[in-house]
Amino acid sequence: MRTTLTAKWLWDGSNLLENPEITIEDGRIASIVGRGPGDARGKLDFPQATLAPAFVDVHIHGAAGHDVMEATPEALQAVGGFLATRGTGSYLATTVTAPLDTTLRALEGLARQIANPELLESGKASAKPVGIHLEGPFLSPKKCGVQPVEHMLAPDIGVFDRLFEAAEGRVRLMTLAPEMPGAVELTRHATGRGVRVSLGHSNATAAETRAAIEAGATSATHTFNAMRALDHREPGILGVVLTTGSVYAELICDGIHTAPELVRLWFSAKGPERGILVTDAMSATGMPDGEYTLGGFQVHVADGRAMARGVLAGSVLTLDRALKNFVEFTGAPIEQALRLLTTNPAAMTGLGNGAGQVVVGGPADLVAVNDEGRLVASIHGGRPAGEA
Ligand SMILES: [Zn+2]
Repeated sequence: MRTTLTAKWLWDGSNLLENPEITIEDGRIASIVGRGPGDARGKLDFPQATLAPAFVDVHIHGAAGHDVMEATPEALQAVGGFLATRGTGSYLATTVTAPLDTTLRALEGLARQIANPELLESGKASAKPVGIHLEGPFLSPKKCGVQPVEHMLAPDIGVFDRLFEAAEGRVRLMTLAPEMPGAVELTRHATGRGVRVSLGHSNATAAETRAAIEAGATSATHTFNAMRALDHREPGILGVVLTTGSVYAELICDGIHTAPELVRLWFSAKGPERGILVTDAMSATGMPDGEYTLGGFQVHVADGRAMARGVLAGSVLTLDRALKNFVEFTGAPIEQALRLLTTNPAAMTGLGNGAGQVVVGGPADLVAVNDEGRLVASIHGGRPAGEA
């Protein structure tokens, strides 16, 4: 099947092209050219919008009533189908701290489905799980958030290797607390196996944070949340993450996890090259208020807040809303804001195959957004995915 897409602009991951015409054949991009004034418009035309790569979410636990740790085709079809309507093209299925056996079983299931995408085929547009993010068990009990302290473990290369092997090497990202004994050695070991290490759920001092970055840590997990607060004499993890130019930093931009003023501070520190917008979304995302689970525990969702034991428990955010909030809070130009949910997460995790880019030969997974960052359409395999 062949179709053409036209719009006001294309931001392809590096450059802005005015009046683009994109030809799509069999779900892949066959050509990208500029249109002359007066040339015919495409079958799918977005005259006021910017086309951009579909979003990449490196931190998401679930959506549409399902948690990725269920690790069944049904669960991932539900999550992927929902995300596709909100502009997300690929994501890292993110685990929470759980009993080790539970995590190992979840990783085996996730690995099977990532390796065999045909298991997830439903005939509908769907975001693809392209790897796994281990959020735990090597976290600090002092900054656990809602994660169960009783299942947290000190960083341990043997345990990590069991997790990595259960996941058949599909772990792309691991959050750990750099101050825990063994964290530096594990950071070096995991990095050597191709896993990106993200610092978070941590009460680390500045020195402890620097040591992990020197050992290879490349990112920070939901900056500000479950993280030692900034102190002007002991800058701690936050001070180091915000001021180390090489380090990427996630942010949950829902207006609840981080105040708009701090979103601006984060962006002025990390800039358009190192900021990453994530959702940290849990199973209640895209569902009515009520009772849900995150990993193994109960979460109550009301008015856009997911709470457990009086603490924020993940979010019900989607990346399209994160983008709109971010543009509203910072006033950043759309082509800068888009980097934070496309090229930056793809570069941080080393994703290839056109993730976070619009390239000839790559998948025809795109979004159309307006100048305020509002999602106008989500396109998967060259077709609009449900209602945006
Ligand atoms: Zn999380």
